[in-house]
Amino acid sequence: MPPRLYIDLPLHSGAALALPAGAARHVQVLRLQPGAAITLFNGRGGEWAAAVTQMGRSEVSVQIGMHDEVDRELGAAVTLALGMPANERMDAVVEKATELGVAAVQPLLCERSVLRLSGERAQKKVAHWQAVALAACEQSGRTQVPLILPVSPLADWLRDLPAGSDDGRARWLLSLRDAVPLHSARAPAAGVLCLSGPEGGLSAAEEAAARAVGFTAVSLGLRVLRADTAPLAVLAHLGLQAPHS
Ligand code: SAM
Repeated sequence: MPPRLYIDLPLHSGAALALPAGAARHVQVLRLQPGAAITLFNGRGGEWAAAVTQMGRSEVSVQIGMHDEVDRELGAAVTLALGMPANERMDAVVEKATELGVAAVQPLLCERSVLRLSGERAQKKVAHWQAVALAACEQSGRTQVPLILPVSPLADWLRDLPAGSDDGRARWLLSLRDAVPLHSARAPAAGVLCLSGPEGGLSAAEEAAARAVGFTAVSLGLRVLRADTAPLAVLAHLGLQAPHS
């Protein structure tokens, strides 16, 4: 399979293109030669076959070939809102969730969050996670790049949601208390907003606040899953059901 590269530019079959610096570096690291096949995508639908035409010291030129409308997204767009796990675990969640088809990730600060990010540090982390998601798209064949949203306190995020389920999305609260099994929860075409707690879980008050704005408590079974495992289980479940799976 040719290397896949994300390019944040309009792409057109038949056009010649000088790759932006990051993508050019990637091609050079791979030591591709003129004539080598690559695949380009820009997150705006499908992907393009392309061939390297010229390798300079730092510039790489390609010829863009056929567009393929391929769609490898889940049937329902899933936004994952999660109490950010600490250390490298959030990187891993973003990477794996992207592979599993997440549409957007909303990092949340909760009462019991270990990782407390704000200001510039939070912005830098979000930019880092966006880069992790991009790399996972290149690797996994995704043609849509999930959006990593700015870090938000859970209470603010809940307050700013559209009233009720006005946006048509199902709202699932991953919970160990009074929850319906995941297999009985329906994922509408409008999508799913899935809220999952941090390492120490959500407090009773946080769960009550989520239920008050229309979240249904959903169970993933009898075992307590880590904060970085639970949301991935939901995505895997939906991915195996999706028409595009
Ligand atoms: N001791 C914590 C508690 O009681 O909430 C455990 C939290 S768990 C490590 C982190 C998050 O993963 C939970 O807040 C919940 O959202 C989700 N989770 C873990 N296991 C789950 C399960 N079996 N069913 C539903 N959600 C689960």
